[in-house]
Amino acid sequence: MELLYRSTRGGKEALTASQAILQGLAEDGGLFVPDSIPALEQPITAFAGKSYQETAYAVMKQFFTDFTEEELKDCINNAYDSKFDTEKIAPLVKKNGAYYLELFHGATIAFKDMALSILPYLMVTSARKNQCSNDIVILTATSGDTGKAALAGFADVPGTKIIVFYPKNGVSPIQEKQMVTQKGANTYVVGITGNFDDAQNGVKAMFGNEQLKKDLNAAGLQFSSANSINIGRLVPQVAYYVYAYAQMLQSGEIAEGEQINVVVPTGNFGNILAAYYAKNMGVPIDKLICASNDNKVLCDFFATGCYDKNRPFILTTSPSMDILISSNLERLIYKIAGADAAVDASLMESLKTEGKYSITDAMKAQLDEFYGDYASEAECAAQIKKVYDAEGYIMDTHTAVASCVYDKYVAKTGDTKKAVIASTASPYKFTRSVMNAIDASYDSQTDFELVDELNRLSGVAVPQAIEDIRSAAVLHDRVCETADMEKTVRDILGVN
Ligand SMILES: *Cc1c(COP(=O)(O)O)cnc(C)c1O
Repeated sequence: MELLYRSTRGGKEALTASQAILQGLAEDGGLFVPDSIPALEQPITAFAGKSYQETAYAVMKQFFTDFTEEELKDCINNAYDSKFDTEKIAPLVKKNGAYYLELFHGATIAFKDMALSILPYLMVTSARKNQCSNDIVILTATSGDTGKAALAGFADVPGTKIIVFYPKNGVSPIQEKQMVTQKGANTYVVGITGNFDDAQNGVKAMFGNEQLKKDLNAAGLQFSSANSINIGRLVPQVAYYVYAYAQMLQSGEIAEGEQINVVVPTGNFGNILAAYYAKNMGVPIDKLICASNDNKVLCDFFATGCYDKNRPFILTTSPSMDILISSNLERLIYKIAGADAAVDASLMESLKTEGKYSITDAMKAQLDEFYGDYASEAECAAQIKKVYDAEGYIMDTHTAVASCVYDKYVAKTGDTKKAVIASTASPYKFTRSVMNAIDASYDSQTDFELVDELNRLSGVAVPQAIEDIRSAAVLHDRVCETADMEKTVRDILGVN
């Protein structure tokens, strides 16, 4: 049976998966959602012992029903290969009473690689399936990790160009260096003077700009998105939650049917939404624990039912979670509104005009399976040190936010179900913050001295992604005002 996709805000008729991937964001500003979330075709026990690629295929074929088996398997095999530094692709590591699902073994050492190593293949296949003759311009806003992962995925892919906007003063030094040294004639990296929300708003505005769309089309170009608003990013992420549960079954850590909790360090709400989809497919997950940093808009939302972004934007040591407008939450809102696009559209309008909205009690009652909390900067740093001292395991700042929230959750609720913590970045990506958490006197050392020291302390090999930027030349130095994002895009593409 064909699964179709619709905008959360209503709009036009339903699209196939490949059409939704190609388009990225719906014309009415909504996000594409599947008409239903399919149940796993096989019992979860059948997944024990399956490879990552087999698991990804079983999950993705149920969402991307207009792809042939050959098309989908080609995409998967091209994505999850030796770009990852382990054959397991997403290993599960037991430390300090929890299971860390390490999602950072790909080319750019953050979990964004899990989806962005496959998105270019899904995109090119979707273009071919829909007889699209335009070149595709991937327009991306990044809080630091999506940008590099998308650049790495789309660099030199024929028929595509990629433009990435990042907050000039809002990413880690290593994140910035990774992006501005990106090779590939079709890649463009632009720092903006605003924050991530400004970048994301600017990009969303360009998607909805009819004149720009016409001008691009006349030049043989069309936009698509590599942000987690693209369903082609969300669905591949569902696979690793199925895989994590199956790994626990396989190793005997859990018994058949045993429920687990999942803890996710959250920014744009993509990763945790993927866990929610996995639960809806039939993975025995009980609580979905949403961990925020000081930008705790989601934590407050789960407590009160009011989403309110009217608050200061705080720069933290977990920059990929410095977000006040969590785009993917809209997909959950639409679902708990009973797939009522009018309700969703009016809440999103209120978010746009007043910066906030409140859901009804009936909607809030459906959020029981979510639990929100946050970790302050001091708590996050203390957690890194605590787990390092106890286990010699060094985690990055984002993972530490989740790990800290999880410990607080257990202390508060006494719920000791086994828990999977999404480990979203290698500590090497946030070396300075991580090393300072272990010992503040490290701050006097250079970034690469710290890399070598982290290697000594952790015994974990320095990833290739870090070796690559030690001596790499800066190839991108564009900076623009937030208000000039459209002009910058027109200049880059030669569309005036
Ligand atoms: C993007 C990112 C997050 C947040 O993920 P969302 O899907 O946006 O909620 C957390 N940690 C790291 C390291 C990231 O790169």
